[in-house]
Parts: sequence; structure tokens; C-alpha cells
Amino acid sequence: MKSVDAHLAEILATVRPLAPLELELEQALGATLAEEVSSPVPLPPFDNSAMDGYAVRASDVSEIPVTLPVIDDVAAGSVELRAVGPGHAVRIMTGAPVPAGADAVVPVEWTNGGTVSVTIDRPVQKGNAIRRAGEDVQAGDVVLKPGTVIGAAQLGIIAGVGRRRVWARPRPRVVVISTGAELVEPGGQLARGQIWDSNSFTLTAAVREAGAEGFRAGSVGDDPAVLLDRLDTHLVRADAIITSGGVSMGAYEPVKEALSPLGTVRFEKVAMQPGMPQGFGVLGEDEVPIFALPGNPVSSYVSFMLFVRPALDKMRGLPGGLPKAVTAYVTGALRSPAGRRSYLRGVLASDGTVSPVHGQGSHQLAALASANALIVVPEDVTEVPGGAEVEVILL
Ligand code: AMP
Ligand code: MG
Repeated sequence: MKSVDAHLAEILATVRPLAPLELELEQALGATLAEEVSSPVPLPPFDNSAMDGYAVRASDVSEIPVTLPVIDDVAAGSVELRAVGPGHAVRIMTGAPVPAGADAVVPVEWTNGGTVSVTIDRPVQKGNAIRRAGEDVQAGDVVLKPGTVIGAAQLGIIAGVGRRRVWARPRPRVVVISTGAELVEPGGQLARGQIWDSNSFTLTAAVREAGAEGFRAGSVGDDPAVLLDRLDTHLVRADAIITSGGVSMGAYEPVKEALSPLGTVRFEKVAMQPGMPQGFGVLGEDEVPIFALPGNPVSSYVSFMLFVRPALDKMRGLPGGLPKAVTAYVTGALRSPAGRRSYLRGVLASDGTVSPVHGQGSHQLAALASANALIVVPEDVTEVPGGAEVEVILL
């Protein structure tokens, strides 16, 4: 059997980072920056008020209380500004440019709020409540480096330096297809022998949680021809494809039957539990990677976390290793088959202990849904005593 590490290494050696595109800001969330973003101007671009209040000369407000005439009113966006002469005040709003002559802003809370004249009852320091030009960013400063994943705040600073588009690796588009003649779309009625298709929802959601775009392409029964047809339809718009089911040793294994003859997808046994049968390869001229995951719901999800997620990371231009593990103390004894690495479902608590959940079968999706971690038991270990230190992958 192939080891988990060897299987992942093969996958990572095959998948490539997506080519950067010039993305509109609206499309850039979750993309990975492929250029340095710098600011053409200082930020803030001009000295402005941090508060609603009065722009003054601080030296006029040393003896308090003091009453000053209000000679102007400046809102954010004001362009025509009167200078603040000695003994004068200008009413000013947050974000408005500080008029020439003023060297401090007195918050409105320290005053009587007057509009013709204002009485100030607290002394003010020079520079008070003034946001200086360039305080955040100097003109020419790099604000984001290549390799940065664009989240909300990063998108904000890209817009904040005035950019409309940015060079970035887009989120991989991943098509998810379920196979199985027994599958019924949730919401429909189950006849005898049928189950609702959960994998396509789990895997599409996992794709999205991994920072890629997931498209659920439904379920194709167990007919290899229908699967090939569906793959053909989706190949043009996919950066990767995930199938579930139809890869094990039985009859009616449509993924294996459809893809084995192509010679570009390999079906192997990987030394793990759950998730032993795995298929991986590339399809079409563009060599789109395809992950043929086992059908059992826990197996397909664990396989996704171990193999697909790192591959998606690499496609996004990020380091693509196995998920990070932490150590914890297991609350009860564990068993694991010899020669296979187990990923048992558990609940990791804040005290650093991890408890295996009830129901470790690879079909037990409810048990998976109650877990927040995978307990890793190495290939050469068959029994773990309660209290032992174990490696845990957070879900
Ligand atoms: P297979 O790998 O196709 O032999 O499927 C293994 C097990 O997983 C069977 O019990 C299937 O009914 C179940 N299964 C396969 N696909 C799905 C799916 N999309 N949703 C839920 N269970 C599935
Ligand atoms: Mg099946």
C-alpha cells in the first residue's frame, strides 16, 4: 500500500499554482496576491481631523475657559478652507482637512458646541485629534506583499490606495460530482435502498472553506458514460474536479471504470483509515487534476482534508503541506489497524485533552459532525492507552 505521505507528495508534485490574472476588486476576495501593492500617495493624503470639534491654535486655548469666534465650518470633503488666524476657531468634522494656521482640534465634548462663537473649557495640546498625512502609509510604501491572501482588510487597503484591479491568483474553481445509483437529492423522498446525497454538499462546502470556489455538479448514478459526459461538460470551467464514490473493489464503480482506461488517473490503496481507496490524476488537454475520493462520507471528508486541501493551497500559491497537527492527551484507549495511519474523530477540549467520539465507522457522518478534530495514530501503532499523548488535526 502507498503511504499517506507518498500519495500527498505525488499530488503536490502534479498540481501547479494557477496563473495570476488581473482581477477586479469584486472578484479578488480569497485570491492570492501576485504583485506588490504600494500606495501612490501618502495615507491619510492630508492632515485631517480625528474628531468632530473645533480647529484652533493650541496657544489660544491655554487659559480656560476661553470664548473664540467661529469663522468657518469644514465638513469632510470641504475644499475651500479659511485659515485659522490667532484667536479664531473653525468648526470641523471628522475626516475634514485641517485648515492652515490650526495646530489642534478641540473635541466638541470639551465645548458648548457654539456655531457663532465657542466656549472651550479644557486646554488643548498641539496636535490634538489631528491625523497627520502619511501617518499610516508614506507615498511609495508597499502595503501588501505577493503571496498575501486577500481577505476583507486586504481588499480594503487595495481599494484604499486607489486600485480598481489587482494581479492575483484566483480562487481555484472546483467541480464536485457525486456518484451512486442509491443517491437522492436532499429534500426528495427516499425509496427503499436509497440515501440522500450528502458528500456533494460536504465537499463543496469544504472547497469553499479551503478558500476555493466550489460548484456542486450533482450526482451521476453509477453509469460510467454519464460520468464521462458530466466531466466533459465541466472540464472547461474547472481548475480541479472532485468525485466521490465508485472507486473501491466492488462492481458498479463508475469512476474507476470510466477513468482507468484513460491512463492518466491512478487508483490505489493508501495506507490510511478511513479512506483507503484513492484515485488521482489529470484530465484533458489542460491536465485538470481530479481527485476521485471514496464514497463513505467520513472517508471522503478526511481524504479531502489530507489530500485535496493541501493541493488547493498549492494551486492558490500557498505552501501546501499536511494540515497542522497539535499534541493532546487522549481520554480513552484507541485501536488502529496495523500498517495504516488512522484518523479517528475526536473532540479536542480547551484543557488539552481529546476524546474520541462514539461511532468511528466511515459511514458515521453524525459522529463526524460532532467532532472538531482528527486523532492521528501512526501506521506502526495498533493500541494507544488512555492518557497517552497523540497528534491531533483540527477540523
Ligand atoms: P462507494 O465508494 O461508491 O462504494 O460508496 C461507499 C459508501 O458510501 C456507500 O455506502 C454509499 O452509499 C456511500 N455514499 C457514496 N456516495 C455518497 C454520497 N454522495 N452521500 C452519502 N453517502 C454516499
Ligand atoms: Mg457507489
